[in-house]
Amino acid sequence: MRKIPATIVTGFLGAGKTSLLRHLVTHAEGRRIALVINEFGELGIDRELLLGCGLTNCTDDDVVELANGCICCTVAEDFLPALEKLIDRPDPPDHILIETSGLALPKPLVQAFNWPEIKARVTVDGVIAVIDAMAVAEGRFAANTPALIHDNPFDEVFGDQLSCADLVVLNKTDLADRATLDIAEREIGSRLRAQARHVNASFGKVSPQILLGLSAAAEDDLATRPSFHDAAGEHDHDDFDSFVVALGSIADPGAFVAKLPTVIAMHDVLRVKGFLDVPGKDFRLVIQAVGPRIEQYFDRPWGAGERRQSRLVVIGAKGIDRDAITAAIRA
Ligand SMILES: [Zn+2]
Repeated sequence: MRKIPATIVTGFLGAGKTSLLRHLVTHAEGRRIALVINEFGELGIDRELLLGCGLTNCTDDDVVELANGCICCTVAEDFLPALEKLIDRPDPPDHILIETSGLALPKPLVQAFNWPEIKARVTVDGVIAVIDAMAVAEGRFAANTPALIHDNPFDEVFGDQLSCADLVVLNKTDLADRATLDIAEREIGSRLRAQARHVNASFGKVSPQILLGLSAAAEDDLATRPSFHDAAGEHDHDDFDSFVVALGSIADPGAFVAKLPTVIAMHDVLRVKGFLDVPGKDFRLVIQAVGPRIEQYFDRPWGAGERRQSRLVVIGAKGIDRDAITAAIRA
């Protein structure tokens, strides 16, 4: 029996993993794709964004959300049961895509594919690391994170994601000139496995022919995928924090978005994302902030029975000032 290929998509907060997956699903060329989505933070934004694409080949059942912390820490409780459920379906998917949270370590997940129940039926086709080219070139791995200093927790997460990868997608290259790209390529190059390749992309647009069918069987060569956490044997995510800011409807989204960069810069916020309810608009407004860059677009109409509400997830380093940030966003 042919094993079902699974692709693990890793990458730091805001690197563009969800955009990459959206592009992949919309160009699946008849493949039945199932997605396992994992996020750091309390709101299932990424699952919502993927379902919001309104694809007919992407139904509710095909998108599984694992929200109980970082997927690398809940492999046995959450990930393996979810995976078994997918492959036990009467119509199992042709390919499984797994989006890890931006703070998750990919290696524990790859290791899980050696569990006997799984190993016989699924293989890791490839580990793909999505990287924000600008952020790397600027010496950060998400804009606004502390500059790249080895032995800091950001660096360890970033380093683990790169050193596990079969393919690196250097994303957001539309924002970078040649010199900037050279810097980014040098920075990641030193951290990649000898076998790893990289491709450039903007807006996560990479052909399925490049991303899928790598046939890496990553679970069989874990030794070539070193982790900062190999020696410790365990890890935690105590260096990071997240919370939700609930808001009323936002009458002037332009003014609302305009004040976000100041809040983000003042409080070293790594990531803000969520949805806004704009009165008079049938569609919900998506907000995605990575460092100083903020993206907004209307993605889908509010559902008939759906409560219109504005909610944002904020992620930062441990100890970010929740009350002050909430007050500033609400002001
Ligand atoms: Zn973990």
